[in-house]
Order: sequence, then C-alpha cells, then structure tokens
Amino acid sequence: MLELDRLVMDFGRFRAVNNCSFRVEEGSITGLIGPNGAGKTTLFNLIAGAFHPTSGRIRFLGEDVTGLASHQLFHKGLVRTFQIPHEFHKLTTLENLMMVPPSQPGESLFSNWFAWRRVSSAERDVERRAYETLEFLELTQVAHEPAGNLSGGQKKLLELGRTMMTDAKLVLLDEPAAGVNRTLLRKLETKIEILNRDRGYTFILIEHDMEMIEKLCAPVICMAEGRVLIEGDFETVRSNPQVLEAYLGE
Ligand code: ADP
Repeated sequence: MLELDRLVMDFGRFRAVNNCSFRVEEGSITGLIGPNGAGKTTLFNLIAGAFHPTSGRIRFLGEDVTGLASHQLFHKGLVRTFQIPHEFHKLTTLENLMMVPPSQPGESLFSNWFAWRRVSSAERDVERRAYETLEFLELTQVAHEPAGNLSGGQKKLLELGRTMMTDAKLVLLDEPAAGVNRTLLRKLETKIEILNRDRGYTFILIEHDMEMIEKLCAPVICMAEGRVLIEGDFETVRSNPQVLEAYLGE
C-alpha cells in the first residue's frame, strides 16, 4: 500500500531522516517506535505531505506521490489524525464530526450547490454517518456536549471518529495512547482493531505505550537517529540489542 524508498530529510545540516525504506502492507497495523528524536514525527510529516523530502520516493497505492501536498493525499485516502484540525472546543461532538470534509471530490457539498435537494440529502447523509460514528465509538451520550468538555480519552476517540467521516484507507495515528486513561485506552485499542479488521483501514501508529504496540502492531519498526534499526514482530524488535541500546541512550 505504501512504499518508502530511501527517504532523506535534512533540516539545514541536520539529517533527521536518513535513508529510510520500508513497505506497509494493506490491512496491517504497523507500529513505529524509537527514542525521542529518532525521526518518527518527521517521517510522518513526509508520508502525510507536510514536508517535501530532501531525496527519496514515496509510493501510495502504486502511484508515486512524492511531493504531493497533504490535501491531495487526503483525497487519495491517506489521513493523518492531526491533519484533520483538532476539535473545535465550542462545537458539539456531533458538529465536530459533521465538519470533516468528505474525501472524495464527487461527494463535496459545494459541487452540489446547484441542486439544493441533493445538498440537503448529502447533509442528511453526513448527519447519519456522524450518528453512526458516535454509536460505534460509544460517544452518543456526549453528542451534544461541547467537544472542549470531553476527557482526553474521549477526544482521542473523537479524533478517530473524524477519520471515519472520510474515506480513509491509510490512517497515521500520532501517539493515540498519550494522556488516555486505562479504561478508555482499551476501548481505543478495540476500536482501532475493529476499523482494521472490518473496515479494512490500514494504520501506522507512532506510540510509546508498549502494551498497545504489542497488542495491535505487526510489524513493528524501530527507528533511531533517523534510520530504521529493525523491522519485525514485537518480540524480535523488543529483544534486539541495538533497540535496547537506542532506548538506553535516550
Ligand atoms: P521523534 O518524533 O522520533 O521524537 P522528530 O522527527 O520529532 O523525532 O525529530 C527528529 C530530529 O529532527 C530531532 O533531533 C529534532 O530536533 C529534529 N527536527 C524535527 N523537526 C525539525 C525542524 N522543523 N527543524 C529542525 N530540526 C527538526
């Protein structure tokens, strides 16, 4: 689904991503781990089109997408949670879901402006999809609460919900577990698993919570100093001496 070929990202004279190559198989949940400063976020920014790589190529669904902007990738089904703006505090949870732009150009409300009947039916579709999403995430009881009042974990679920309002194929999740309490964390894991299994979403997630990585991710890729150190199953990566050393040096 996604292929990174010798990606390099320089910030001035500093090489944050150094010759990274790997593939992400359709239907997988790939875990990206590594100590702080390893280059994980920069790599996400490259994949999501926020940064233009210094060199190297990115292929998504068989197409060379190197240098495409975030919104172009978004329309192709590559969604970074953070790419969808953070929740609007004063809008309700439901309204936050309804604000997400549809990712297929043909579904745009604006392209239907000339036919109000179609617009109103498109709006109803968006509303129905938003309610279904709330139900799936078990957030129906806070549908009409301002999103600013949600707990950290509920906000993470809402963020996941916003990807569900698009026609996402590949979702990049940046530390989904950060700041989430244990109970909601288990719920978040289950929802990610269901979206992967039943909806066919492919995920790449950056995460420091090793329990979540162990439970959800195969393969796991460990980066350090801008490079891919090792790729494999959780146990292989965790017990690799270079990985242990990279974390000790943090
Ligand atoms: P990680 O997400 O693994 O913690 P980052 O990708 O955030 O790592 O950072 C990798 C390295 O690149 C760090 O040393 C960081 O200071 C540097 N870096 C990240 N973004 C920039 C930037 N915009 N300008 C300069 N250096 C950057």
